[in-house]
Amino acid sequence: MYPKSQKLFLQAEKIIPGGVNSPVRAMKTVMDQPIFIERAKGSRVYDVDGNSYIDYVGSWGPLIIGHAHPQIIEVIAKTAANGTSFGAPTALENEMAALIVEALPAVEMVRMVNSGTEAVMSALRVARGYTGRSKIIKFAGCYHGHCDSFLIKAGSGAATLGCPDSPGVTEGTAGDTIIVPYNDLDAVKEALELYAGTIAAVIVEPIAGNMGLVLPQEGFLEGLRDLTSKNGVLLIFDEVISGFRVGYGGAQEYYQIKPDLTTLGKIIGGGLPVGAYGGRREIMEQVAPCGPVYQAGTLSGNPLAMAVGIETLKILKAPGFYEKLNAKREKLTSGLAKKARDTGISIQLGAVGSMFGTFFNLNPVKDFAGAILSDSSAFKIYFLNLLKQGIYIAPSQFETGFVSAAHNDEDIEITVTAVGQAFQAVSNHYEQH
Ligand code: PMP
Repeated sequence: MYPKSQKLFLQAEKIIPGGVNSPVRAMKTVMDQPIFIERAKGSRVYDVDGNSYIDYVGSWGPLIIGHAHPQIIEVIAKTAANGTSFGAPTALENEMAALIVEALPAVEMVRMVNSGTEAVMSALRVARGYTGRSKIIKFAGCYHGHCDSFLIKAGSGAATLGCPDSPGVTEGTAGDTIIVPYNDLDAVKEALELYAGTIAAVIVEPIAGNMGLVLPQEGFLEGLRDLTSKNGVLLIFDEVISGFRVGYGGAQEYYQIKPDLTTLGKIIGGGLPVGAYGGRREIMEQVAPCGPVYQAGTLSGNPLAMAVGIETLKILKAPGFYEKLNAKREKLTSGLAKKARDTGISIQLGAVGSMFGTFFNLNPVKDFAGAILSDSSAFKIYFLNLLKQGIYIAPSQFETGFVSAAHNDEDIEITVTAVGQAFQAVSNHYEQH
């Protein structure tokens, strides 16, 4: 079914580690080879073998308005005609910063970078510089990019591939990262007491999207805010996924919690490489050249990325954008829930805004330990069945699905019907075993 993809993969494997430039793309736990994409438009992606798919990966989150949106294509062409990088300030950077500061309640100043990883890595350095402390508290199953300090019990690809502790991360670095379970305030409290005076920051995905979709339980984020404030510890919300996704003001607006620092990526670049970190003025004023914490980037604030980000945010800002988008997700997940009931499949269906996740699990999932008890053989059958029917979801249970504004009613209806068949395939598998 995928001969051209196979040929490309065989070539790639010889010259690119694992044949891919980011591990999850290898689809290793569900297929022998990845599918290679040729093009995409709106809600659809097309592979090199001519197969078309309704896409719920959305480049892992950025494409909230769908692929190749005409306004985005136009702005790229127009901006590129004036040059692609200057390494000097541009008015576009001011405009982007102003949009972010205006949108996010907890961000008074912001610095642009080139990826989510870079944003989180930089925010951590600032937190350490500001507090003069070295340790951080991180939650098992949360993924914050591939910077050494965060590659400890990380979610996403690291969880999927079963290598949560990467070789190359030194013991010293790992020792500065304290891991506690998601949604467990007592564990945070204990860690803060045990390492009193040495913790610079607690970093959290306010909506965990890298161990599947796991929502914060009531009081969890409030509790984190309270505990960190009391202990002089900074609270970092990693909103690389949730920023501009669950609403224009991200998770911090959705849950009404103000972190000290916020990290962003994905949507704010609208599909171009970008990241940003920001927060309280007095903390961000630590960043060079304003303050002593060094952080820099040749391509940071790149005009193409800024122009695309600005155009994307303008579209998101239109009245009713999120209501319409979230209603699509609601239609999808209520359809999925019905199909699960009809076929007698036990799933844990999580959803917020336009994000959704499906665990093949008998029990509600509130943390990483619960997530990894999900049935991976059922997921594999589900994934492959959907792919065959032209529905493209992330090739792992430990990821999140994204609905975009480009999905229409027909896409959702086709998807729900396909999911019904995929659940039936899972049900047949259970009967056989
Ligand atoms: N933080 C979170 C919450 C993420 O989901 C990701 C990537 N999926 C990152 C950080 C890292 O971003 P990037 O892949 O752009 O480096």
